[in-house]
Amino acid sequence: MAASVCVVGSVALDSIETPSGTAENVLGGSCSYFALAASYFAPVNMVGVIGRDFPKAERELLASRRINLEGLEEVDGRTFRWRGRYHEDMNVRDTLDLQLNVFGEFSPRLPEAYRDSELVFLANIQPGLQKGVLGQLRAVRLVGADTMDHWIRGDRDALLSLLADVDILSINDSEAQLLSGERNIVLAARKILEMGPKTLLVKRGEYGALQFSSGDVFAVPAFPLETVIDPTGAGDCFAGGMFGSLAESGTFDGRALRRAIVYGSVVASFCVEDFGPRRLRTVTRDDVEQRYRQFMALTDFHS
Ligand code: AMP
Repeated sequence: MAASVCVVGSVALDSIETPSGTAENVLGGSCSYFALAASYFAPVNMVGVIGRDFPKAERELLASRRINLEGLEEVDGRTFRWRGRYHEDMNVRDTLDLQLNVFGEFSPRLPEAYRDSELVFLANIQPGLQKGVLGQLRAVRLVGADTMDHWIRGDRDALLSLLADVDILSINDSEAQLLSGERNIVLAARKILEMGPKTLLVKRGEYGALQFSSGDVFAVPAFPLETVIDPTGAGDCFAGGMFGSLAESGTFDGRALRRAIVYGSVVASFCVEDFGPRRLRTVTRDDVEQRYRQFMALTDFHS
C-alpha cells in the first residue's frame, strides 16, 4: 500500500483572468491543487482552513478522491480569496486582490490520524508555521517545501531554519534567484543546496523544470500543448504529482525521483488545460499513464 502524503497550505476561492477568459470563485489554493494531483497516486492527508462560505461541491470534489479532509478545518468567516490576471506571456501574472480572511489566522494542527504520514509537503505558508508542522509528525521520511518572494524577503531567518530540515525544496526560478542572490540558476542551485535541502526542484513554467542534487542534474520539459488556458496551480500540481508518485513507490532514490518528476510534469500539463482544477475533474489515472508514455517518447534518444 502506498504511504500517505500530508499537505499543509492554502485553500482558496480564486478568480482568474487569462488571455483565454475568466473564471470566478473556483477552487484554488496550493493545498487543494497539490492534494488533487497527489491523490492520483497515493492517499493524501489535507490540512487547511476554510470559511462557512466554502462551496459544498468543492468539498465533495476533494472528498471523492483519496483525500482525507479531517484536517480541513471550517471556521466562522470567509474563505481565503485570491484574484489574479495573466499577461499574454502566461509566465507573468499580477495579483489583483488578496483577502486572507480565515487563512490569516491559520495555525496548522494535525489530527492524530495524520501524525504517522511518511511524506509531508509544506506548501507556501509562513516558514515558522511550516516548521511547526514538522514537530507534529512522528515518522516522517521525506519533507518537501515551497515558499515565495514574500517570505524570502521578509522572514529569511525562519526560512533558513526550516531549510535545514527540508529534503526537497520546490520553487520557481525567480524565487531561486532571490533566495541565493545568484542570477545563474546552476550557481543559485549550488548555494541553495548548501542551505540544507538535499534536492532542489526549480520550476520554470512553460520551460519545464530542473532538479539539482549533489552531483546530479535532471531536466524535464513541460509537455508541449497547443493551448494553455490557465497556469494557476501548475506548480502545486507538479509537486503533488511528484510527491504522490514517491509515496506510491515508497523509495526516494534517484530513479524514483526522476520518475516522480516526470509524473509531476504530466499532472501539471493537464491542470493548465482548463480554468482552476476543472480539468482534473475528468482526468483519470489511465490518462496520466498515457501522457507519461508520450513523455518518455518525447525525451527518448540514443547516445
Ligand atoms: P501557483 O499557480 O502554483 O502559484 O498557485 C496558485 C494558488 O496559490 C492559487 O490557487 C492561490 O489561491 C494561491 N495563493 C495565491 N497567493 C497566495 C499566498 N500569498 N499564500 C498562499 N497561497 C496563495
